[in-house]
Amino acid sequence: LERDNLFRKKHNIHVSGRNIPSPLQKSFAELRSRYNCKSYLLRNLAGLGFEEPTPIQRQAIPVMLSGRECFACAPTGSGKTFAFVCPILMKLQHALKDGVRAVILCPTRELAAQTARECKKLSKGKKFYIKLMTKQLTKSADFSKLPCDILISTPFRVQFAIRNRKLDLSKVEFLVLDESDKLFELGLVEQVDAVVKACSNPSIVRSLFSATLPDAVEELARTIMHDAVRIIIGRKNS
Ligand code: ADP
Ligand code: MG
Repeated sequence: LERDNLFRKKHNIHVSGRNIPSPLQKSFAELRSRYNCKSYLLRNLAGLGFEEPTPIQRQAIPVMLSGRECFACAPTGSGKTFAFVCPILMKLQHALKDGVRAVILCPTRELAAQTARECKKLSKGKKFYIKLMTKQLTKSADFSKLPCDILISTPFRVQFAIRNRKLDLSKVEFLVLDESDKLFELGLVEQVDAVVKACSNPSIVRSLFSATLPDAVEELARTIMHDAVRIIIGRKNS
């Protein structure tokens, strides 16, 4: 649509891919009118003082809500975390005691802890099982029996838990690779790969978020994703 393209241009949103959902053009309230978003989420966004979605949120949220895979590049501090946490919470709808349903991989423990805190902020008032993979947890007797709507971890800790057969990822519906450029810089590709393989649900939706999009990251995105939407905010490697 012409209107979507004009809007994207104005907000410096560059997209490629087939049949891309319209960006959010107004406030977060549009999530209710377009996607029937629950009140707790809008309340939490308002409580955080967020008036409008950031450009990456405007485009990535509708893409993920429509069930499409995406790889997205937007500058540091541009709100990438909620760009994926928000649609994941909406898609999961409510807590289930049904194994691990979403996995977010972060390059460092600090970033994983921070992302877990953000997930909790956004899900306040809803009893989602949000788990940060700690060292103790990787060793815990039978992780696969613990309810876990969203698991947040470094690739290393997940891989360790998989190897010890304590973690079953075969039901995961959403896999996010956050800060993918750093995952690469830190040499974590093999571990990421092991996690991608363990998430064997054929209807999984994968997404990749990054501050820069070096060729290696773009290549990874293209090899693991199907019919993905590519979203760049501003310029690819700025
Ligand atoms: P990135 O992952 O792109 O580096 P973050 O997701 O960490 O950025 O977000 C950076 C900061 O912006 C955080 O403090 C976050 O709470 C805030 N933020 C996220 N979304 C919005 C929004 N729509 N409006 C205002 N601030 C936001
Ligand atoms: Mg981030």
